[in-house]
Amino acid sequence: MEILNQIVDLFFSNICFICKEKLTEKKYICEKCEKNLVMIDEGKCFCCGENTSKNGICESCKKELFFDGFISVFEFDKVIQNLIHCYKYEEFKKIGKYLGEILAEKLSRYSFISDVDYILPVPLHHIKKRERGFNQARILGKSVSKKLQIPLKNSAVKRKKYTKSQTKLCKEEREKNVGNAFVIKDISLVKNKRLLIVDDVFTTGSTMKSIASVLKNNGAEKVYASSIVRA
Ligand SMILES: [Zn+2]
Ligand SMILES: [Zn+2]
Repeated sequence: MEILNQIVDLFFSNICFICKEKLTEKKYICEKCEKNLVMIDEGKCFCCGENTSKNGICESCKKELFFDGFISVFEFDKVIQNLIHCYKYEEFKKIGKYLGEILAEKLSRYSFISDVDYILPVPLHHIKKRERGFNQARILGKSVSKKLQIPLKNSAVKRKKYTKSQTKLCKEEREKNVGNAFVIKDISLVKNKRLLIVDDVFTTGSTMKSIASVLKNNGAEKVYASSIVRA
């Protein structure tokens, strides 16, 4: 246990990730910055904000996106954007752990989570991974997996197509861009399984929709989706 605490100490940075102020407590971000993070209202659809929602998603979004549930945590703003867009691997490992734990805590309040067999991070194309050096969704997924004690499977789905950055594309262009971008790599991790996809940002949902449809077409029993941020 003592060794474990020492490891925790090693990973603990004593400055706030956001404002870089010195921290007095063993935390990741300071209280002031934590208060500035805007949580999404619960009890409504996490995709569209409609009132009716079971498993965090309304009926029309469920049909549109092929998700059986969808949970997100924060509204998109400058503060969370700075956290998510951290390109330093060592730093994001800590940020991702912190944000993943928050997502896991939120997920644990929904009963469907106890049925989930595997957590699947949104895969990055190997060229993109080379550019950035790491897959943020994988780091987030690892944290969620650890906290919820659900195995993380990085090799169930693969991104076969190198997709353009989605940021400047509209909804239709995004769907076209990521359509057929994913393939199943290991069917035994998909068929008759209940899966939870993890990503950093949910914008129009086109990326996770594309994965969900591939999973469903290959016999997945349930596909749930989750993200740290909803833009
Ligand atoms: Zn701060
Ligand atoms: Zn909805």
